[in-house]
Amino acid sequence: MRPIVIAANWKMNTTPSDAGDLARTIASRTRVRGVTRVICPPFVAIAAVRDAVAGEEVEVGAQNVHHELAGAFTGEVSAPMLAGLATWVIIGHSERRAYAGETNELIGVKLDRALEGGLRPILCVGEQLADREAGRATAVVDDQLRGALEGRDSAALAACGLVIAYEPVWAIGTGRNARGADAAAMADAIRTSLRGVGWGSLADDTPVLYGGSVTSTNVDEFLSEAAIDGALGGGASLKPDEMAGIVARAGVTAAARGLAS
Ligand code: PEP
Repeated sequence: MRPIVIAANWKMNTTPSDAGDLARTIASRTRVRGVTRVICPPFVAIAAVRDAVAGEEVEVGAQNVHHELAGAFTGEVSAPMLAGLATWVIIGHSERRAYAGETNELIGVKLDRALEGGLRPILCVGEQLADREAGRATAVVDDQLRGALEGRDSAALAACGLVIAYEPVWAIGTGRNARGADAAAMADAIRTSLRGVGWGSLADDTPVLYGGSVTSTNVDEFLSEAAIDGALGGGASLKPDEMAGIVARAGVTAAARGLAS
């Protein structure tokens, strides 16, 4: 049974002092059975969020990890440094692909580091608007998955709980979300791609989240799709009212799928 996951990507927002308060508020307003809640604050606020949610069933993630373990990489953070701070990590977010030039190959190496470091990866994939308009969306996402996963140990990645987030780039931070049916079709295509790189039946066990301008108002469209197992939120994840609504709706899906007992 795939888990229902609602993950919050706070991006470059919050300071250590306000992150703890925000995390505590969100945690207290999202106590819903059967939903895995993950908050990914900026690196400098991870410890504050970890401490703020201690005792709550809220998990903490990083928004990135370096592909090397240590060395002369000024300003970077490695997987071993995150031990004791985070248990999840977002890898391959489109903003890092765009602004930090991350390639599919580099993203694959980051998955290796996450695996070694015991971090549960959220691997982000998604097409540009021009790709979708040209009918290339599935091919682009397949390339991203192949580039990152081909030749890697599917059993180990599945065992560490790899989650895929389908995030069409044109929907991120734009207020323009995908249609639920399109996101579900892509979730099916993602599992086909996983089978294509040797995942076999593990593909069906891999959670696929939707991300891209998710709100408490539109999340129903995604969570009512059987192929979709949750959401990765950006802007809405900084707003307690929005998070309360999103996680409450996720709880309905969790109950319908027999996960809430
Ligand atoms: C994201 O950053 O992963 C994201 C989906 O952002 P937003 O919800 O703001 O579109």
